[in-house]
Amino acid sequence: MSQRKIYYFDNNATKQVAPEVIDAMMPFLTELWGNPSSAYSFGNQVGKHVEEARARVASLINADPREVVFTSCGTESNNSAIHSAFALNPDKRHFLTTAVEHSATIKFSEFLKKQGHIVTFLPVEADGSLDLHLLEKSIRPDTAIVSVMWGNNETGVVFPIEEIAAICQSKGVLFHTDAVQAAGKLPIDMKAVGADFISVSAHKLHAPKGIGALYVKRRTRYQPYVIGGHQERDRRGGTENVAGIVGFGRAAELARDRLTGENTQVRRLRDRMEETIVRTIPDAMRNGAKEPRLPNTSNIAFAGIEAEAILMLLDRLGICASSGSACTTGSLEPSHVLRAMGLSPERARGSVRFSLGFYNTDADVDFLLQQLPPIIEKLRAISPLNPEPSAQSKRESRAGRSNHPEKVTVV
Ligand SMILES: *Cc1c(COP(=O)(O)O)cnc(C)c1O
Repeated sequence: MSQRKIYYFDNNATKQVAPEVIDAMMPFLTELWGNPSSAYSFGNQVGKHVEEARARVASLINADPREVVFTSCGTESNNSAIHSAFALNPDKRHFLTTAVEHSATIKFSEFLKKQGHIVTFLPVEADGSLDLHLLEKSIRPDTAIVSVMWGNNETGVVFPIEEIAAICQSKGVLFHTDAVQAAGKLPIDMKAVGADFISVSAHKLHAPKGIGALYVKRRTRYQPYVIGGHQERDRRGGTENVAGIVGFGRAAELARDRLTGENTQVRRLRDRMEETIVRTIPDAMRNGAKEPRLPNTSNIAFAGIEAEAILMLLDRLGICASSGSACTTGSLEPSHVLRAMGLSPERARGSVRFSLGFYNTDADVDFLLQQLPPIIEKLRAISPLNPEPSAQSKRESRAGRSNHPEKVTVV
């Protein structure tokens, strides 16, 4: 299977599996195929590698290895934490979350509502931030759990999780955070953050898809979601995805070692890309660009055009980017995250997410910066949505100047 060169700007959807991770996994797909629960040493020795991987994942988030439960993905981790809170507190009916969560939480909330629970989706400000005072006021005596994501997959907006965890602790309510995008991009110290549960996913860390982890704080009661054998200290049934777990462990180790260096490099590329786009393309505006922000993510609205059309033309050149999250692309609905930030449906539909990673180079960014402006210009020329100001600024940019620097709005 041959693959033409791709220019990958969709690292929040998934990441390339690191060669180091593949190397670590191979023995567990070949000679070391025993079941870690078996009593004989052929199986048992595999279990030692699972525990080594658990220690590595724990180390990435500064947790005790016994606090790490392997799951099949970030989605399962989110579902499991929320499910546990309701299963163990049948008298509590309320779930508090935000309007900008990943579908792994939003759709589960909708399911809870159908089951008769009450869900509050906290609104966000225009810059994507949360009003913590409102969050505190929204906690009710019957709130079973609060779930607020750490870093947003669409905009990169980072929520103050330590403060939110402290609020929940002071109110005596369970707190979960979806740290799938934060892990490996921000330092995470579970000894300092008072969260009961956090979700992590391996494929957002250069390991394969189909493996995740749920951190369950020591002494926090937990009701398993997948019920079966005694695996994961009775917290998640099912024979372990050993190769996936070992790969996850190696990826967590790499992420920890690279945390500072990788993010400095990625941030520099992202900033160069983003600043050039908003400076050179008329009516291109950043969404949710206030700091703190994930170092790799950029969400840009191109007035007057549909993101889907931009993505299609980029795809012809081998450039991968997305609108909204990969899980909702193709649904034609404008991003719920951008809508929650108060963007008009038109501006939300004209927004593209570029997310960078460890393997992106300056040459990738140069290629994108060279290809994107003519695509936008071409689409604006044929767009029925094309507003007058864009047509005007298009002419100005052709003439080599733009008098719209103030349109480079940072919201
Ligand atoms: C990708 C993602 C998930 C889902 O993780 P999977 O392992 O794909 O199920 C959950 N939350 C966020 C923020 C994500 O980016």
